[in-house]
Amino acid sequence: MVVTKMTYLNVFSILYIVALIVIYFSKDRVKNNETYIYKVLIITNLFGLILQLLTCYASYNYKILPTILSDFVIKTYLLYYILYGLLLLYYTLTLIFKNIEKQRKNLFAIFSLICLLIYLFPMKLHLDYPNQIVYSYGPAVTYEYIIAGLLTVSLMLILAFNIKKIPKKKLVPLFLYFLLGTIAIIIQKNHPETMIMCFVETFLCFLMYFTIENPDVKLIEQLNIAREQAERANKAKTDFLSNMSHEIRTPLNAIDGFSQLILEEDNMDEIKAEVRDIMAASQNLLEIVNGILDISKIEANKLEIVNVEYEPAKIFDELVKLTKGRLGDKPLEFRVNIAKDLPEYLNGDYVRLKQIVLNLLTNAVKYTKEGFIEFNVDTVRKDKVCRLIISVKDSGIGIKKENIEKLFTKFERFEVDKNMTIEGTGLGLAITKKLLDLMKGTIVVDSTYGEGSKFTVAIDQRIVTNPKKKKVEVKEEIKKVDIKGKKVLIVDDNAINLKVAARLLSTYNLETEEVLSGFECIEKIKNGKKYNLILMDDMMPKLSGVETFKKLKEIEGFNTPVIALTANAIAGMKENYLKEGFNDYISKPIDKKELERVLNTYLK
Ligand code: ADP
Repeated sequence: MVVTKMTYLNVFSILYIVALIVIYFSKDRVKNNETYIYKVLIITNLFGLILQLLTCYASYNYKILPTILSDFVIKTYLLYYILYGLLLLYYTLTLIFKNIEKQRKNLFAIFSLICLLIYLFPMKLHLDYPNQIVYSYGPAVTYEYIIAGLLTVSLMLILAFNIKKIPKKKLVPLFLYFLLGTIAIIIQKNHPETMIMCFVETFLCFLMYFTIENPDVKLIEQLNIAREQAERANKAKTDFLSNMSHEIRTPLNAIDGFSQLILEEDNMDEIKAEVRDIMAASQNLLEIVNGILDISKIEANKLEIVNVEYEPAKIFDELVKLTKGRLGDKPLEFRVNIAKDLPEYLNGDYVRLKQIVLNLLTNAVKYTKEGFIEFNVDTVRKDKVCRLIISVKDSGIGIKKENIEKLFTKFERFEVDKNMTIEGTGLGLAITKKLLDLMKGTIVVDSTYGEGSKFTVAIDQRIVTNPKKKKVEVKEEIKKVDIKGKKVLIVDDNAINLKVAARLLSTYNLETEEVLSGFECIEKIKNGKKYNLILMDDMMPKLSGVETFKKLKEIEGFNTPVIALTANAIAGMKENYLKEGFNDYISKPIDKKELERVLNTYLK
C-alpha cells in the first residue's frame, strides 16, 4: 500500500471522529430530531473516512484487486458524499420546519434510490501515470457530482430564503460546508489524490457538536426537578394565601356583620348576644393568627423548644378545667384518669405540651356530639426520664381510613360540608405533629369512622429531683381587688388601641392617661408625673417601647412597674420582654383575665 501524507491525515481523522463519537455517546442526550441527525452524521462521517482509506487503497491497487470489489468500494465512497449532503439538507429543514421528523422514511427512500442508480451506472478508469494513481470517472461519478451539486444548491437556496428562522450559531457549519466544500472540490478536481472533502466534513461534525442542542440528560433532569420544586412551592404559597384569605375573612365577616347590626339595634339583650358572637369570632381569628405564626415559625425552623421545670399535675389540672369549660351544654361525659405516680416536677416545654394536649382535647369536644371523652395520662419511668403517655379518646364522628394519613397535613379538614358548624383551620394537628417532632415525641391515631377516635401521644420528660424554688405560674381565678383611684399611663401609637385599653381599664375605676408616643411618656415622667403602673406598647415609630423603657430607667427615682402591652405575641416574646426588664407582659388583643391578673399584682 502506498502511504501518503493523506493517509496520515485520514488515520488521524478516524481517531478524531471516534473520540467525538465516544464523547457524544458517553452521556444521555436529549432525544430530538436534531440530535438524531447529528448521531447519524458523525457515524456516517466515520464510515466515510474508512471508505476513503479503502478507496485510496483501491485506487493504488486497482489492477490487482477484483474490479467488482474496487468498484463497490469507490461507488460506496461516492454515495457517502450524497448521504452527508442529504443529512445536512434534512438538518437544515429540521431547523426551519417543526414537523419534518415524519419525513425520515421519505429521506431513506430517496437515498436508497440514489444508491441503486449509482451502483447500476458503469464506471471507467483513468490512470494518472506520474502519480501512479487510478481514479474513476464515467456516468456514476458524473451522476454523483450532479446530485451532490443539486443538494448543495438546494441547501443554499433554502438557507437564503429562511435565514431569519435559523439561529445564527447554527448557520456557521452550514455556510462553512458550502465554502470549504467548494474549495475542497476545486482542489480535489485538480489533484485527485488529495480527497480532502471528507476531512472538511469531519471538521464540520466537530463544529456542530457545539451548535446543536445537546445538553446532557442529567442536567435537564436536575433542571426539571428544580422547576417542579419551584412550581410546588409556588402552588403551596397560592394555596396558603387562598386558605388564609378564606379563614381570616370568615370571622372578620362575623365581626363586621354583627357590628353593623349593633349600630341599628336598640334592644340591649340583642346587642349583648351580638357582642358575644363578635367575641367568639375574634377568638377564632386570634386562634387562626396564632396557628399561622406557629406554623410559619416551625417551617422557618425558628421555633425553639424551651425546657423549664414545671409541675405536671398542675398543667393537666388546668387542661381538665379548660376542656370542661369548652364542653358547654353538650351531653358528654368527660372521664379523666391521671396517673397517681406522676412526678412532682418535670423538665420540658410545658407551654408546647399544653398546646399539644389542648388541641387533642378541643378536637375531641368539637367532633363529638354525644357520648364520652376520655382523657388518660400514664407514665413509664426509666432512670431520670418519665415517659408521659397521654391519650384522648372520644365517641365522636371518627375519621375515615383514607383520611388518617392526611390528618397532619396543614389545612386538611374532612367532610367540611357535613361539619359546617364546626369551626377550625386544619392547622391544629399539623402544628401538633411538628411540635412533637421537635420534642422527639410520637403520636398515634386509632379511629373508626362513625364510632370515635383515639389519639395517643408519648413524650419523654426529664424528672427533676431537686426543683428550683421558682414554680410555674398557673393562672388562678381572679377576684377583683379594690384598685380604685390608682393612676395608669397607657403608651401606644395607635389611637384605637389606646381607646380599647382605656375603656377596659375604666371598668376598674382607675385614673388613666393616654399618650401616643414614647417621647410624650418620657416627658411626663421627667416633669415629675407619678403613676402606679405604665402599660407600654413596643412597636412604635421612632422610639420603640423597649427604647422608651431604657430611657425611663435612666431617670432618677423612676421605679414605676412597666408592663409590655404588645401585639408582638409570637412564642418566646414574653420571655424576651421580661429579659429586657419589663415587669410583666400582656399580649394584644387584651385578655381581660390577663389584664386583671396584672392589675391585681402591681396595683394592690
Ligand atoms: P381543625 O380541627 O382546626 O379543623 P385539626 O388539624 O385539629 O384542624 O384537625 C384536622 C381535621 O381532622 C379536622 O378538620 C377533622 O376533620 C379531623 N379530626 C381531628 N380530630 C378529630 C376527632 N377527634 N374526631 C374526628 N375528626 C377529627
